[in-house]
Amino acid sequence: VTDDVLPEEKGDYDTKLLEQLDKEQSRLQSIQSTRKSLPVYRYRQQLLDAIKENQILIVVGETGSGKTTQLPQYLVEEGYTKNGTLQIACTQPRRVAAMSVAARVADEMDVFLGKEVGYSIRFEDRTTPEKTVLKYMTDGMLLREFLVDPELSKYACIMIDEAHERTLATDILLGLLKDILPHRKDLKLLISSATINAVKFSKFFYDAPIFNVPGRRYPVDIHYTLQPEANYLNAAVTTVFQIHTTQELPGDILVFLTGQEEIETAQANIEEIANILGSRVKPMIIAPIYANLPQEQQSKIFQPTPQGCRKVVLATNIAETSLTIDGIKFVIDPGFVKENSYVPSTGMSQLLTVPCSRASVDQRAGRAGRVGPGKCFRLFTKWSYFHELEPLPKPEILRINLSQVVLLLLSLGITDLINFPLLDKPSIPSLMKALENLYVLGALNSKGTITRLGRMMCEFPCEPELGKVMHTAATHEKCKGVLEDVVTIVAMLHETASLFAHNQNDNARKSGIVGSVQSDHMLYLETYNNWRDMDYSKSWCFDHKVQYKTMIRVRNIRDQLWGCCEKLGLVAMNEVALKKITGEANLEPRIVRSFISGFPMNIAQLGTSGYRTIGEQSGGVSVSIHPSSVVFQEMRKEMKKPTKFILYQRLVLTSKEFMRDCMPIAREEWLQEMVPHIFKSNKK
Ligand code: ADP
Ligand code: MG
Repeated sequence: VTDDVLPEEKGDYDTKLLEQLDKEQSRLQSIQSTRKSLPVYRYRQQLLDAIKENQILIVVGETGSGKTTQLPQYLVEEGYTKNGTLQIACTQPRRVAAMSVAARVADEMDVFLGKEVGYSIRFEDRTTPEKTVLKYMTDGMLLREFLVDPELSKYACIMIDEAHERTLATDILLGLLKDILPHRKDLKLLISSATINAVKFSKFFYDAPIFNVPGRRYPVDIHYTLQPEANYLNAAVTTVFQIHTTQELPGDILVFLTGQEEIETAQANIEEIANILGSRVKPMIIAPIYANLPQEQQSKIFQPTPQGCRKVVLATNIAETSLTIDGIKFVIDPGFVKENSYVPSTGMSQLLTVPCSRASVDQRAGRAGRVGPGKCFRLFTKWSYFHELEPLPKPEILRINLSQVVLLLLSLGITDLINFPLLDKPSIPSLMKALENLYVLGALNSKGTITRLGRMMCEFPCEPELGKVMHTAATHEKCKGVLEDVVTIVAMLHETASLFAHNQNDNARKSGIVGSVQSDHMLYLETYNNWRDMDYSKSWCFDHKVQYKTMIRVRNIRDQLWGCCEKLGLVAMNEVALKKITGEANLEPRIVRSFISGFPMNIAQLGTSGYRTIGEQSGGVSVSIHPSSVVFQEMRKEMKKPTKFILYQRLVLTSKEFMRDCMPIAREEWLQEMVPHIFKSNKK
């Protein structure tokens, strides 16, 4: 029997294999011819010559010209890796870009991803140290490598890509590289950037030459709305259908949105409308792309659009310069971006949706003109373009919590903060403030050197202040044992803006999540724990008017923070303490104390005319509890006497200065216990 069947099967198998090989061959050929068609290819030799003659070269070129995928390959081909003994690194501000580009380049070089070509991003290292010659990585990861190997000795070339994005990590990397290049004469530095900013980089590096790769770009027709759009998401969806029903094929659409949530909503809306229209419109393929999109779904944006179809790519500003999608003819641009911004008066960073810069919206429009003449639909007015948009995006270093920057620099061994080379320097008074703040938190000692605690605070992917809170919750004699609860609260604090419908914490009580809590922090804790006890159920969220998607994000943040606490050994310390204190009925005082330790400056004191801040930072201003806070509700309904001291997470200025996310401090001595150098004991 076996003899009868086998040959046939085998024959079958062989043809299939041959077909497969054939297909693979032509795929590789087409990849190679695509490589040669890219604008940088014509300048390959000139680029290599310029790199040979100069230690530092700035490369400017239209997005999609092949800088990211080709330049590092040219360096490998030219033998810079010395038979694989040295590596070439190419940094990216975004994780998705690092992963996606590495996958593409592995394909082009016909090697397995993770072997000769790999990527390294936070929490994921897809490289093989003995084998990898080309490594795409986030700028933050290269910064971490500086900690271990300050000379970057295993690298032959570093390409700082997308330098115009001016992330904090990129800015610091440029400063560090400027320091080490004079004594690492053999290390080559390439800085690649969109056209804006190139001169600034050149000046920073002693007038390093700028190599311009001329790109091809077709004209793009710009259309504006006549009036400002009240709801840009709806407007974007409408515009998608206007284009789809009136403009001919082929011609894909790229829509710039600010984040996952918006993209998911837009996708659902488009699919719903497309369903209703049915066969009256041509088929559409919706392809989302954002930072947390699972890897296997990321490649959908690059798949060629079948004939008679239109692809609609819904992207964050990752598609502005980091990723190039072929076939785009129409761009829809609401003109917004999500940015991490630190508000000094509140001491918290927040992800805020803000208008883009003019440079960004111009860049976005350009995405429509790669295959042929294109059109860009801006969902804002022409007046707004000329009068309201900032010319350039603000570099991250000028936007974020400076304590975080200073701590990072100190942990990298940079002590001379004032003379450290930076493209944009924070002001000296603000540096001094940050140092003082770090000293109060115990991240620095009186000599200004970083402490062990300070190093731990660096490890947390959040503000140093919140890192301190978690550390205290696991280690301080009067607090430890409450780490789990504190981590939950910290995670919730990241997302409070979109937690409850109408952002009214009191709703949570009305809808019966908790009976009575003393503070917003405890409300957040109870909310999360109730949800967790219901198996993270969606319907529980619906019943209690809590945003399910927000809670999922909180859970992610919580998992990350917890993982970090585990790595730092805090979880183990907490466990030991927990065994000793079980039986103690009320853990809340421990939680309050933990927060005092991280936010000693965010405290208000009750005087004759209400609360006034006492932190030097805000200079003692009059503040009120925000009506949405449970503390406010509690006082009004139950006629409770306000506590003498109250801790707040944020100040919001509307009709007056309001404290949000408040926590009453039941006993004054907690302040003296936790931050004795600020609250000196007045008993004896
Ligand atoms: P630049 O860095 O100059 O903006 P890139 O090197 O990123 O240019 O892109 C060069 C070309 O490679 C583009 O045409 C782009 O479409 C293509 N490309 C990049 N990544 C992928 C991918 N994952 N799949 C298919 N094509 C890709
Ligand atoms: Mg690029």
